[in-house]
Amino acid sequence: FSSVELTQSLLDRITTEDSRYNSFISITHAQALAQAEAADVRIKAGDAAPLTGVPIAHKDIFCTDGVRTSCGSKMLDNFIAPYNATVIEAFNRAGAVNLGKTNMDEFAMGSSNESSFYGPALNPWDTDRVPGGSSGGSAAAVAARLVPAATGTDTGGSIRQPAALTGITGLKPTYGRVSRYGMIAFASSLDQGGPMARTAEDCALMLNVMAGFDPKDSTSIERDVPDYSADLDKPLDGLKIGLPKEYFSGDIDPEIQSAVQDAIKQYEALGATVKEISLPNTQLCIPAYYIIAPAEASSNLSRFDGVRYGYRCEDPQDLEDLYKRTRGEGFGDEVKRRIMIGTYALSAGYYDAYYLKAQRIRRLIQQDFVAAFNDVDVIMGPTTPHPAFKIGEKTNDPVAMYLEDIFTISVNLAGLPGMSIPVGFANGLPVGLQLIGKHFDEARLLNIAHKFQ
Ligand code: GLN
Repeated sequence: FSSVELTQSLLDRITTEDSRYNSFISITHAQALAQAEAADVRIKAGDAAPLTGVPIAHKDIFCTDGVRTSCGSKMLDNFIAPYNATVIEAFNRAGAVNLGKTNMDEFAMGSSNESSFYGPALNPWDTDRVPGGSSGGSAAAVAARLVPAATGTDTGGSIRQPAALTGITGLKPTYGRVSRYGMIAFASSLDQGGPMARTAEDCALMLNVMAGFDPKDSTSIERDVPDYSADLDKPLDGLKIGLPKEYFSGDIDPEIQSAVQDAIKQYEALGATVKEISLPNTQLCIPAYYIIAPAEASSNLSRFDGVRYGYRCEDPQDLEDLYKRTRGEGFGDEVKRRIMIGTYALSAGYYDAYYLKAQRIRRLIQQDFVAAFNDVDVIMGPTTPHPAFKIGEKTNDPVAMYLEDIFTISVNLAGLPGMSIPVGFANGLPVGLQLIGKHFDEARLLNIAHKFQ
């Protein structure tokens, strides 16, 4: 069949079924069909790349030329991006077909998709439950088979946690591996885009397109991009797995524990050895993150002022009134909470007590990983302490929501690659195993993920 037929059938499926999941914010019918037609021409001419003609979707955080790019916010509900993010450009060049933009927590702040201006995306395994966040729309769309793969972004777990909660595979690359140009900034020293798909094999195909140096992103790293599909089948004999004792104690669902332990046994059967390690500063990652991420966010979000683009309040009386009402009306509660925490932490007199201290903790967390990786090749543990929770269950308790990210956040603070793969079920809900690698060890993570049966 042709790409046009495939694209049309998925667009039909999204139109009829996505009312159940709310995983898309925008569906780009016309552009998708035009891209599919162009892909069919390329395929006929024998000029196809691996993703030519393959329909995918993009988190609505990636600027897409001529398409609304809302970032899940009322603030950008009317914003049509005038250019493409580097990631979008790369998929276009590869000939992929963009079906639309997926739902997300407002400005990627959240772990449940409930902070979206467009309402929450729902978990296809149980639509009373959240799909995780902030890339919850991408996760739900892939899990519901509305699209074979989608992009996500991960600042503290937003690719891995929704992948875990919906039973799909997600990879957060090393910081600097994938360009952030045109990806609306939340916390710039932590944000990283990556693939979400059913399998490691598909994530490898996606990463082959996404990864690479970009002169338009000053934190992008100039380093060769391997073929991530090349080593997927490599044997795992001699692989040394580290199990941090802090990731197997405390408030963890017992069924998650046992699914993760069974998965690790499979790896031992495949020739890996297991060793207990310690990441002693794990408990500090959430307090440090909730200073650093809001601090960076408060600075990044100052651009949404009603002057240049996005939402503007009605009939402003003067400049101050314009700022106040635009931001008061345009941002949701979680975003406001973060802006207030961030500006407080950065203000003169509090900087040393909060921001500087958080940066020092960040360094300690990085050093914990460096020490651990002297002895092991990969670190494994649960991606999340609990399976998908009910819609509304944690909305009135932001700290309970923040605690769900205990295993994913330190990976961003250290800039490491991390992956979540589906390894079983807890009370009928999917469980994710997290793999954490050394810097730029994405090919190894994909190989390890691919070997899991
Ligand atoms: N849940 C975390 C937060 O709310 C991480 C979000 C993300 O990775 N974008 O900030």
